[in-house]
Amino acid sequence: MSSNSLESTAVIAALARKDPALRAEAAALFATVVNERFAPFAARGHLPPRLTVRLMRTRWGSLSFRRPSRLRRWLRPRPAEPARMTLNLVLVRAPRECLEYVVVHELCHLEHHGHGREFYALMTALLPDWRERRQRLNAAVAGLLPR
Ligand SMILES: [Zn+2]
Repeated sequence: MSSNSLESTAVIAALARKDPALRAEAAALFATVVNERFAPFAARGHLPPRLTVRLMRTRWGSLSFRRPSRLRRWLRPRPAEPARMTLNLVLVRAPRECLEYVVVHELCHLEHHGHGREFYALMTALLPDWRERRQRLNAAVAGLLPR
């Protein structure tokens, strides 16, 4: 668990504009955690997602799939496109265990798109204490997300 303290997101936003190093720090950290957690998904045949770092108001992360059009797939069949994982810049100052929770949550969307029972069964298999981590994350940043 990291001992980084969480800065206000206004500060982080200002830093991100003036200091691309913060965004680079986040990108490197997030890529490390995704790599650490990816093995079970590689075993299920998934491609590693592409990563995007953004300062977001309402969510920690998201996973999106871009399917080429049917015409494009017919013209040039190729393996599935990697998904894109977007992670909130704020997580760069969150405890590492909380970042891991968000990363595993988004990775589980490679397997299950919604939040159904199978999604949570996979979450629990891969990160048994995910509920505690989520609670810690929400407590750590309560009131900090920009409006
Ligand atoms: Zn989700």
